[in-house]
Amino acid sequence: MRILLQFPEGLKQKALAHAKVLEREGNEVFISASPTFGACDLALDEAKRIGAEKLVHFGHAEFHHVDFNVEYISYEIDAPLDLLPQSLSHINGYKRIGLVTTIQHVHQLDAIRSFYESSSHEVVIGKPYGFAKARGQILGCDVGSAASIDSKVDAIVYFGGGIFHPLGAVLATKKPFFVIEPFQGTIERFDGYRELYAKRRRARILRALDAKSIGILLTTKNGQHNESLARLLKARIEKAGMSAGILVAGTFDFESLDNMLEFDAFVNTACPRIAVDDTERTRKPLMSANELMEAIRLRDEVRLVAKPGAATS
Ligand code: SF4
Repeated sequence: MRILLQFPEGLKQKALAHAKVLEREGNEVFISASPTFGACDLALDEAKRIGAEKLVHFGHAEFHHVDFNVEYISYEIDAPLDLLPQSLSHINGYKRIGLVTTIQHVHQLDAIRSFYESSSHEVVIGKPYGFAKARGQILGCDVGSAASIDSKVDAIVYFGGGIFHPLGAVLATKKPFFVIEPFQGTIERFDGYRELYAKRRRARILRALDAKSIGILLTTKNGQHNESLARLLKARIEKAGMSAGILVAGTFDFESLDNMLEFDAFVNTACPRIAVDDTERTRKPLMSANELMEAIRLRDEVRLVAKPGAATS
């Protein structure tokens, strides 16, 4: 069988070893060298182009059904738990602790829960909203396991690598939020990001108030493509008296966006995290759909004050 293998960045170092195993079983194996950000970002075009009969995607669970033969191989990582005793000095003032992590460490949640319960804490593990599959699991675009327990706990603990996942969860919650990073050996309180990102959000909206034209980002990635939202936003922008263009790409290159000088601002319909994590990478304001609607509402208010009856909605 002709197979295309796809690995996220952290697992690309294992690609050749997996390819050799499949080759020894009689398969013809190709390896995708493109970046991938999740199961929302399958190398379907590459697989079809090389005539692959199967795409094997490592490291993520199925995001949504696609019309192609895809095998998902999850990748559990046993991270060291030796920071847990040290974390008690951070959370000891909080009785009920919510626990969240990524798919790679979901299998470790029971051990973490047992540790905190043996240290006189109550532990709550929440359900994801949609794309995430396991209790306590969060994705960049599904932090339901954190948000659903926010009102029931005194503090939330994220266990895992990197800041991408806990950043999404801290912005969707209000309680004290601690990050145990077992690979860097750090324990950090993350609450300060809430104010920082709220300020950035306000700044984007204010900068977009004078925009005359807006570019709408529409990705071709399988799990992020949302043409109906892009078309709806275009109609809404035009109704507000601005011009709009729908910009299509697989992965957006921010330098290329900066070259599109006709646009005064951009609005995102792709991975929702683009309008959180990448907003400082473009010279022009890069907003979420909600932020765009807020900017239009404020524009209308300003116009009403300047010239009663001039609003567009
Ligand atoms: S956060 Fe973005 S990249 Fe990650 S799974 Fe969701 S849509 Fe995909």
